[in-house]
Amino acid sequence: MKTNFLFLIFLLAFTQCKANNQLLSAQKKVVKLMGSRFELTAVAENDTIAWDAINKGIVEITRIEKLISSWDANSQTSLINQNAGVKPVRVDKELYDLIFRSKKISKLTNGAFDISFASMDGIWKFDGSMTTMPNSLEISTASQFINWKNIVLDSEANTVFLKKKGMKIGFGAIGKGYAANKAMAKMKKMKGVRGGLVNAGGDLISWGENSHPDAWTIKIANPTDKNKSLGWLNIDDMAVVTSGDYERFFEYNGKRYAHIIDPRTGYPTTGIKSVTIVCPDAEVADALATSVFVLGQLEGLELINQLVGIECLIITDDNKIIGSERLKLRHY
Ligand code: AMP
Ligand code: MG
Repeated sequence: MKTNFLFLIFLLAFTQCKANNQLLSAQKKVVKLMGSRFELTAVAENDTIAWDAINKGIVEITRIEKLISSWDANSQTSLINQNAGVKPVRVDKELYDLIFRSKKISKLTNGAFDISFASMDGIWKFDGSMTTMPNSLEISTASQFINWKNIVLDSEANTVFLKKKGMKIGFGAIGKGYAANKAMAKMKKMKGVRGGLVNAGGDLISWGENSHPDAWTIKIANPTDKNKSLGWLNIDDMAVVTSGDYERFFEYNGKRYAHIIDPRTGYPTTGIKSVTIVCPDAEVADALATSVFVLGQLEGLELINQLVGIECLIITDDNKIIGSERLKLRHY
C-alpha cells in the first residue's frame, strides 16, 4: 500500500465514466488482492456485462495468487522452495512458463532481476520493524543462494529444481504485472466488453475504449508534492508500472534503502526513489521497473533505451527526473 505520501508517485487513471458513446457503461471496483489494492474498470455495452467482466477479472487474479504465493505453504511455488537442494518439482505449465520468462529477464538484465532474491527473506524487513543493520555475515551467507542460473528447468518433465538447499524463489517483482495481464485477457475477450483498466497496486494496464478523451490518461504525481502532477501520459493498450521505495523501505543512519535487493550484494538498493516503465505488457513492465532500480539510473536507462517500445521515467533520491529517449510525458 502507498503509505508515505511524501514520496508518493502515484498513477491515477482517469476513468471518466461518461463514455463518448453514451450507451456504454463504465464500472469500477476496488478490492484487496495479493496484499495490494487492485482496481478493476470495465467499459461495456451495459452494466451487467461490465460487472460480470470485473468479477471474472477478480476470479482470475485470485487463482493466480494461489499459484504463485510463497506465503501459502501449499502453493506450487512453496513446494518448489521446500524441495530446494532435494529434488525437482513438477508444476503447472503456467507456473513453469512464468519461471522461464523470469529467467529470460534475468539474462536480459545481467542478473539484476532474479526471483531467487527470496533467499534473503527474513533478513531484511521493510515494514519499519528493523532498527539496525542485519548481520553482514548473515547477508553474505544468504546472498550466495541468489543465482537465477541455479533455477533448473526441465521442459519435458515440466519440473523446476532449485539446485542448492537454502535457495528460494518469489514473484514479488513480477506477479502483479502478470496478474494484471491475465485479468485483462479474461475481461477483454468477453462479448460486449469494449475496454477497461486493471490497476494492480499501481501496476496498471488499459485497453480498448475508454470514454473521454480518446486515450486513457495516466497522471504521474510529483514525488515531492502529491497534490501536483509531473505531467501525464496518454496511453492506448499500454501498461504503466511503477516500482517505488515509498511503499516499503528501511532507513538507517540517514540513508534510505528500497525494498528491492541487489542480487550482486544481498543489500537493498539505494539512489532511486521510483521507476515507471511504459510498454504494452504489464509483466515485462513490472519486471523491468524492479530491474532498473537495481541497475541504477545510468545502466538502467541505457538498457531501456535499447529496448524498442519500452520507455521509462526514473526519479532519483535527490529528485532528479530522468526520462528515456522516446518517453512522451505531457506537461501542463
Ligand atoms: P516491485 O515493487 O515490482 O519493484 O517488486 C518488489 C518486490 O520484488 C520485493 O518486495 C521483493 O518481493 C521482490 N524483489 C526484490 N528484489 C528483487 C530482485 N532483485 N529481483 C526480483 N525480485 C525482487
Ligand atoms: Mg516489479
